[in-house]
Formats: sequence, C-alpha cells, structure tokens
Amino acid sequence: MRSHDLVPNSVTPAKALDILKKGNHRFINNLKVNRNLLEQVNETKDGQWPFAAILSCMDSRTSAELVFDQGLGDVFSIRIAGNVISENVLGSLEYATAAAGSKLIVVLGHSNCGAIKGACDHVKMGHLTTLLDRIQPAVENAKGISGEHNSSNPEFVQEVAKLNVLHTAKQIVESSPIIKGLVEEGKVGIAPGMYDIATGIVTFYESDIVMTKEQMEEVRSAQMA
Ligand SMILES: [Zn+2]
Repeated sequence: MRSHDLVPNSVTPAKALDILKKGNHRFINNLKVNRNLLEQVNETKDGQWPFAAILSCMDSRTSAELVFDQGLGDVFSIRIAGNVISENVLGSLEYATAAAGSKLIVVLGHSNCGAIKGACDHVKMGHLTTLLDRIQPAVENAKGISGEHNSSNPEFVQEVAKLNVLHTAKQIVESSPIIKGLVEEGKVGIAPGMYDIATGIVTFYESDIVMTKEQMEEVRSAQMA
C-alpha cells in the first residue's frame, strides 16, 4: 500500500511538528484560531487530509484537537488509556500514514495519568489488566527512581509516563514495517511528547524524535525562526 499523498507535499514531517507546536502555543496563550466549525463540516464533507496522527490517552483533560488548537479534518486522533499500542492501534496508524498520507505520528503521554498510576500499582481488573500490562516495561525501567515505586510517588509516576511514551514510539517503528519504511523514506516522522495537565504545555522529547537527518535540520531551523 502506497501513500496517496493527499496531504499537500509542502507539509513535511518537520512542518507537521511545527504546526502542532504553534497550535499548542496558541492554546496555552488562549489565542485559539476562531474557526467556524460548521463551515469546516461543509469543507470536509467530501474527504479528509489530516497532516498528523496523534496517539494519546483517553483522559478527559487531554483532547488532542483542543490542546493543539486544530479543527475538523486536521488530525487523526487515536485515544486509548495509557496511549499504548495494540494490533488495532498499529492498523489505525498504518491507515493514517500509508493510506491517508499523514506526515507525523505523535505519541502523547500526560502528567498524572490514571492508567500509568494503575500500572505502577499493578492493578488487576477485568480487561484493564491486559491493557496495563503494556505499560509494565516502563514500570520496570523506572526502577532507578528513588522513593516508593508506586502511585504515591509523583516522580516515579512521571518517569513511568515518560518511559511509556518513548517505549510506545519505539515499538511503533519496530512493529510496523510499513511505518518503518515511510520513516526511512523521510515521508513520516515520529514525535514523542508529554502534556502537562496543570499548564496545558506539550513538551516534545526532541532527542527521541524519529526523522531523517534532513527533517531534523528542518525542525531545528523552524525552532530558531
Ligand atoms: Zn491518562
């Protein structure tokens, strides 16, 4: 399956990241674009060309379109407790990039995440048990943090949230040859980030962004602009 390149070619993975950074900047400064959503319903009725796919948590405070100030038809939003991957999530991301032409995959964790806390406490409950198992590698890798290794320790919880985002981003490339190929061709980038529920600020882990060298240079020059 090849990209249909529906998203304009001027939107590169680096440009897509820049659009989201600027959107979050507007969000935290209360400068959101005044959109006529009903007009956007009409504009998008014949198709959609979302430039990015955002995998984030289902938490009611972390709606991707809101925190990045995007309108209808702008981004694919995949939301699941703890922003973990599964066959279904990978399939959705492959559709977003290889079929619909999105240029960027964002894996977005958030502070004070209930799913992360549940994983830290090894909660077992119905189908949630399998979902929280996906976060266990991050719990294991956060053992270097001092203090108690459960949800009562905010530093531990935040470290697990960070490691879970980085682990998920890595797994996407490792588990999907389709996405790996698009990344190597420079058509898609992967950007892990963290949303702070107290400030509204999204921080991207710049050194863990997966993009070609050229795209990373574009990211750096956009930052200086
Ligand atoms: Zn959460």
